[in-house]
Amino acid sequence: MSAFAVLGFAWQLSRSREFQLLGQSVARVEGARKTVALTIDDGPTAAHTEQVLAILRQYGVRATFFVIGSELERNLDGGRAIVRDGHELGNHTYSHRRMLGSSLTFIKDELETTDRLIRAVGYQGPIYFRPAYGKRFILLPYYLRMTHRTSVLWDIEPESYPDIAGSRERIVQHVLDHVRPGSIILLHVMYDSRAASRAALPDIIKGLQSRGYELVTISSLLAR
Ligand SMILES: [Zn+2]
Repeated sequence: MSAFAVLGFAWQLSRSREFQLLGQSVARVEGARKTVALTIDDGPTAAHTEQVLAILRQYGVRATFFVIGSELERNLDGGRAIVRDGHELGNHTYSHRRMLGSSLTFIKDELETTDRLIRAVGYQGPIYFRPAYGKRFILLPYYLRMTHRTSVLWDIEPESYPDIAGSRERIVQHVLDHVRPGSIILLHVMYDSRAASRAALPDIIKGLQSRGYELVTISSLLAR
């Protein structure tokens, strides 16, 4: 293939959420019974981790936190608290930079440093990967495959719609309208700007549970 063809091919790959060849990737688990995974991206932050954990505890829910290595490094106690409560920690890169055109050395450092921090706070389960901005480009898929990492994306993302993101009610409604067995729900609840998402969290959980859904970690969802 010419360099141009390779680039075109890589662009197609980076756009494909379910492309399997260059590193496993999953956005929803087909055939899962009434089970869904709640995934929380970014952080952990000192400001909001405890509050989010308290909500999950109240409803008996296990979630998966895709943490940013640099933020975990600043808030190791937050990471330990997530582990203490039995949640899963995933790798969401160290710097949260786009990896378009990044060197293999940079990618390796982003992923391995974050893995080390995740282990340093006591997490022992499998570490799934979620790329920053959902994009896996050229060398990143190659590195993911080489290191046998599974990328976990999502099929429900209420905050990606500007007319929904600012409203607690609309966030809840969007999730409940679109959820299917095996869905992976993406929420950002770690920053001050995401007050609506934090406020939506209890109603999302209650709404899913009242519809008969069990909320589980990514590992549990993949195991079903
Ligand atoms: Zn992110």
